[in-house]
Amino acid sequence: MSDCLFCKMVAGEIKPDVVYEDDAVLAFRDINPQAPVHVLVIPKQHISTINDIQDEQAELIGRLYLGAKSVAEQEGIAAHGYRTVMNCNAAAGQTVFHIHLHLLGGRNLSWPPG
Ligand code: AMP
Ligand code: ZN
Repeated sequence: MSDCLFCKMVAGEIKPDVVYEDDAVLAFRDINPQAPVHVLVIPKQHISTINDIQDEQAELIGRLYLGAKSVAEQEGIAAHGYRTVMNCNAAAGQTVFHIHLHLLGGRNLSWPPG
């Protein structure tokens, strides 16, 4: 997707603050952090929303969580706790239409979210 911000990051055209990368996923710091640790974990393959995930991409979605787990360990927040969240479409506040797992931590997080 040539007009997708996160695809441009995967392609190296835009350089985010990368904290983790493997063959399937890229993780980088959110530009507008909502917690001391706020990292976005994205698949390298473009998927617009949760609604667009295909059966054959199930393993890839698992890889997002494995990436988040690695980042949480790296950032020193794994034991204390953290939150992962993926927004879907307008009512949930999705603004970038390339799926991304938010990893939030480094402070106590309230529930329910807004
Ligand atoms: P969402 O609202 O769930 O779609 O989340 C999109 C996230 O992408 C927001 O938290 C933004 O702060 C973040 N974001 C937007 N542009 C950039 C960028 N250039 N680098 C890093 N994070 C970004
Ligand atoms: Zn994309």
